[in-house]
Amino acid sequence: MKETLEALCGHLTAEERLALVNTRWFRQPGAMVTTIPYTFDISQVSADLIASGRDLNLQHLNILSLSENAITQLQLVLQKWTKACGSWVRFEHVPTLLPGQPGITFAGCDTFDKIAGLTTWSHRVDPLTGHRLFESVLVRVPTKVSHVQDILVMSHETGHALGLEHIQAIPSLEQRLRVSKQGLGCSVMGYVGRLRTENNSCSTEAVCLQQSYAVYPGPFDKEVCTSLYEISPDPRPPVWAAMAATGFASGVLERFLFACLAGIQYRDQRMPPAQAANLSLILSSMLLLGVQSSFAVPGFLLALLECYARSRDNEYLELIQLLRIFTLIASVLLFFYTLYADEEALTKGLNMLVFLASSLLGLAVGRPLGYVAALASNLIIDKGCCVYDNSLRGLSSLRHRFFAGEGDIEADEAISALRCSV
Ligand SMILES: [Zn+2]
Repeated sequence: MKETLEALCGHLTAEERLALVNTRWFRQPGAMVTTIPYTFDISQVSADLIASGRDLNLQHLNILSLSENAITQLQLVLQKWTKACGSWVRFEHVPTLLPGQPGITFAGCDTFDKIAGLTTWSHRVDPLTGHRLFESVLVRVPTKVSHVQDILVMSHETGHALGLEHIQAIPSLEQRLRVSKQGLGCSVMGYVGRLRTENNSCSTEAVCLQQSYAVYPGPFDKEVCTSLYEISPDPRPPVWAAMAATGFASGVLERFLFACLAGIQYRDQRMPPAQAANLSLILSSMLLLGVQSSFAVPGFLLALLECYARSRDNEYLELIQLLRIFTLIASVLLFFYTLYADEEALTKGLNMLVFLASSLLGLAVGRPLGYVAALASNLIIDKGCCVYDNSLRGLSSLRHRFFAGEGDIEADEAISALRCSV
């Protein structure tokens, strides 16, 4: 079976992906994708950006407008990079970039000699993350496209403009591509002359066209760019799951506590139902208050009112109960609206239904579950009594062995046996 280029290149480790990133574009708060403005207008490029190649002894590089065919090819390269970045970036064409406005200016140059293209930029450091963030970027590529290699230059320089480093930044990775089958097709961010060996030519046309090396972004570029710009999955559970869980929990909790408290029997004693209802109501409302803070306050006040009404056999008890349930639903909804502020209205409505359904389910199963818990508690209490009584009997036996006659032991044993059988 013919192996794909992805399979031949293999994957990068998290450390390698990180080491292949230099600078990145800022994503607007709340936005799903990172928007990168770009222009072909060279009239506003700052002198600093043009001069920044001087450190590399590149002051002879001029700056010109790109030809029509270069612009067409470059736009195709931008499409390829958008796809390679998992569509987490969006290139937005603007007529011009004003001084200080973040974005990329694509320009032509016809005085290249030792190098084929150049990307220079200014950046700032994000005080929160410590990441280097692009401000202005100037990409210089050949003014006209006369060979496929010129498209590779465009892909390579655009890779820098997205924040990607050279493959040779990691020597072990460079070595890996030298010995990999089709290694030259894994990335546009390596120097072909440095990476080329006898056995690493690319034959995957989609990435390398008819060449032996990657012309468009390869599997490594895809991995680095996607991991750089993708939004990591939200660690919070989906809204419907959180609503269902909270609805069920709030429904089940009160009934469970009531059935459990009213059902527990300790030496023939049970808690009166009204007292158990009040206690379970207060406990569950307090728990909700702890979880949802201010949203649950009205519900808690209504719970207190309900306790009062129950103690007075008040005729408004059921009305207060109903009001409390609605307040509870409203407070939970408010809580989730704040937590997931960007939800659509339809989703919110569906989530409310899920909440109501699970709350009802919770109310239905809460009571039987409480009875089961009460039965289990009774069993544990009975066993505990036996252990307690038997240990008393043991102590009493020891006492009698040393201080009294056999008749007293028999009387004590009879009492203990009686208590255990209760
Ligand atoms: Zn480079």
